Amino acid sequence: MTTDGANANDRMRTDLAFRCEQCGHRWYYTRGRCPDCGEEEVTTDELGVGELLASTRVDVTPEDVRSPNRLGLVAFDDVQVIAQLDGEGVSVGDRVTFSGEHTLREGDEQTHPRLTPVATAE
Ligand SMILES: [Zn+2]
Repeated sequence: MTTDGANANDRMRTDLAFRCEQCGHRWYYTRGRCPDCGEEEVTTDELGVGELLASTRVDVTPEDVRSPNRLGLVAFDDVQVIAQLDGEGVSVGDRVTFSGEHTLREGDEQTHPRLTPVATAE
């Protein structure tokens, strides 16, 4: 795996997309090569601002996961991400970022981003 464009620290970040140097395909989740063309030269890419496509609320969750647990499906251009969603009034079509440092499960040592509405500047 080459790391020219995506250094090891960026590969550990969970708030970034990856982009193929060869064909331009973008995806989420760390992979050793492009899922479309097999190219190993990949760079990281900011997700930016996305649009909420769908959301759901899970009331029965494992002991160490918040309840209720809202989840959102968001399109960041051609990349879709499903993750925990913050913001009570957020609805389909709203603009969100994938950011922040949140504990998704009690006891986790690592923090992760959540889907957060852009407009909620409180
Ligand atoms: Zn590719």
